[in-house]
Formats: sequence, C-alpha cells, structure tokens
Amino acid sequence: MTMSPLIDSYQRPVTYLRVSITDRCNLRCLYCMPEEGLQWLEAGNILTYNEIIRLVEVASRRGLRKVRITGGEPLVRPGVASLIEGLRAIEALSDVTLTTNGVFLKEQVAGLYRAGLRRINISLDSLNPATFAKIVRRDIFSRVWEGIEAAEQIGFDPIKINVVLQAGVNDHETDDFVRLTLKRPYHIRFIEYMPCANWDRWVATYRPFGPVKEVIEQEWGPLIPLGLPNEGDAGPAENFRVPGASGVIGFIHAVSHDFCGTCNRIRLTADGKMRPCLYSETAVDFKAALRGGCDDATLNRLLDHVMKVKPKYHELDLRPKEKQLLTMVNIGG
Ligand code: SAM
Ligand code: SF4
Repeated sequence: MTMSPLIDSYQRPVTYLRVSITDRCNLRCLYCMPEEGLQWLEAGNILTYNEIIRLVEVASRRGLRKVRITGGEPLVRPGVASLIEGLRAIEALSDVTLTTNGVFLKEQVAGLYRAGLRRINISLDSLNPATFAKIVRRDIFSRVWEGIEAAEQIGFDPIKINVVLQAGVNDHETDDFVRLTLKRPYHIRFIEYMPCANWDRWVATYRPFGPVKEVIEQEWGPLIPLGLPNEGDAGPAENFRVPGASGVIGFIHAVSHDFCGTCNRIRLTADGKMRPCLYSETAVDFKAALRGGCDDATLNRLLDHVMKVKPKYHELDLRPKEKQLLTMVNIGG
C-alpha cells in the first residue's frame, strides 16, 4: 500500500528524524546539564533499539530519509553499532548519522564504521584543553581529540565539529578553529548558544553571530559561500570556506534567525515521545503503542497526529522567559 508522505499542516515535508537514545551523559557541559546530572530515565522506560528501528521503518515508507542518533551521549548506551546496522538496513533511508561528545569514540569508531556509519558530528567547544575542561567540567580533551583523529583515519567523511560559542568563554578561539580547516578537512560548525538549563548564564554569554563572521573576515578576508541553511546537504548551517582550506566553516544561527519555514525535522525522545518542534511542549507518545503490540496503522495514525500538531514556528516569543528553556538531553538537541 502506498502511504501518504509525511507533510505537516503548513505543507512542509518531514524527512529528518533526530533520535535521542539516552538522556545520560558522561560530561556536564555548562550550557546543557547541571554538575550533579539530571533525574535519569529508568532503563525500562527508554525505547529498545528494535522499537526505534520499527518506528523508523514505518516512517521511512512515508518519506523519512535521514536519521541522526543523539542523546544525552549516545555512546554511553551499549550496542549503538547494532542500532546503526538495523537502521542502515532500511532501504528507503539515505542517511544515518550520529552526534557524540567523542569521549568513547576512539574505542567504538571501528565498530561504528563497520556497522555502516559514515558521517559523524563531534562536539568540541575548545581547542585548548584547559578551556575545554571548564566547559565540559571534565579534563578529557585529549581523549576527544584522539577520537576525532581516529574517525578521520578510518574514513569518516565528513567529520563535523560542533562548537557552541559562548562570549568570554571560547569566542576568542574562532581563529584557531578557522586555522584547523586549513590543516584538516573538518567541517567546523559554530552554533549559537540556545537558552537551556540556566537562563542567567545564557543571558551573560549568548551572542548572535553577525559580529563573529565579521571578525573572521577581518583576519582571513571574505569567506567563500558554499550554501544556505537547509539547502541541499547543508543542514541548518550557512557554510563557507576560507580560501585554500580543505575544511569548511559553518554558522548555525540557532537563535538569531528562524528557519522554521523550511523545517523538515521531528525529534524522538529516549522515552519514545515524538516532539514536532525542538521547542514544542507537545509530545506524542509512541512507546505505549509500540509496547502494546500495535499494528503499523496505529503508528501511522500517531505520525499523522505529529504532522497535524507541528507548529508553524517555534512560538518562543509567545512564552514567558522561564518557559523558553530547553532540556537538550531529553529532546535530542
Ligand atoms: N552528547 C552529544 C554531544 O554533545 O555531541 C549529543 C547530544 S548534545 C545535546 C547535541 C548537540 O547539542 C551538541 O553539539 C551540543 O553542543 C549542543 N547543545 C547542547 N546544549 C546546547 C545549547 N544550550 N545551545 C546550543 N547547542 C547546544
Ligand atoms: Fe552531554 Fe552533549 Fe549535553 Fe555536553 S552537550 S552535557 S556532552 S549531552
């Protein structure tokens, strides 16, 4: 039976799912998680890999093409390679990717590659070990760096490096990251700090990107534009190259611009709730249906409901400030 494609009420095709496979993490990034961690979900409450694979398979018959595995830290959950293998076996999916903090990457990179993973995003907010330790509250830079190098050696392409810029913390390092793109083929993605966990901290260290690009151009000359957000394979980044570089510099205007008009994504939380928008408070529960032995028609009805409730835009401006905070690890940031 041909199923209708996943298209929301505003005629946006939904082709991309971010799946959080755990809320747990071995780091405590200042902008994401408190020092003491969070009230973790119980193991029995998170979707099994088979449940995730089944749901993705159903959605892939309706146009889902790309899945990103995230968390929390996905590599703290055992057996991620088996999930990747299961997802790679879904013919209609053209892209399976993973976002990781890289702490367990060196050990797991060969297994991930064997399972069919080819694209990876690694978070690395500083090239300075001491600054990095302050941001993630762990002295772990060299392990992450070795993980990145191991990924490059084994053939991951592209390797994208996520850098959340915070004023007065790491924003003086943009030049070092640009210099890295001259030496390595990495895609550096500067991400605007989104309000999450701690409002006061966000107010103190959030800066929009306009000036960052200008500062880079003052030093390196005009950047060569490579594509607009959501264009082709660009994802949410506006991409550029410094003349002569093998790597790429991208800006993800997570806060200062709004790309809702071309949004193509939905998010699945570790405990099986589908969020139609990163910021939405609405979530559609799939776990109960999956565990109740439901048929595919039921999953499709739930997907239809997600399409119906996906908001036109994030509606942040309609909320009081304290309700604008995200809990990234729960929703698959
Ligand atoms: N633990 C993995 C990691 O750090 O890569 C995957 C999950 S993490 C929530 C996914 C991405 O969200 C990371 O690149 C992280 O830097 C980013 N992130 C987390 N909190 C953020 C915030 N408040 N603003 C912008 N990006 C954030
Ligand atoms: Fe963990 Fe990633 Fe959040 Fe940092 S950003 S605390 S690594 S989930």
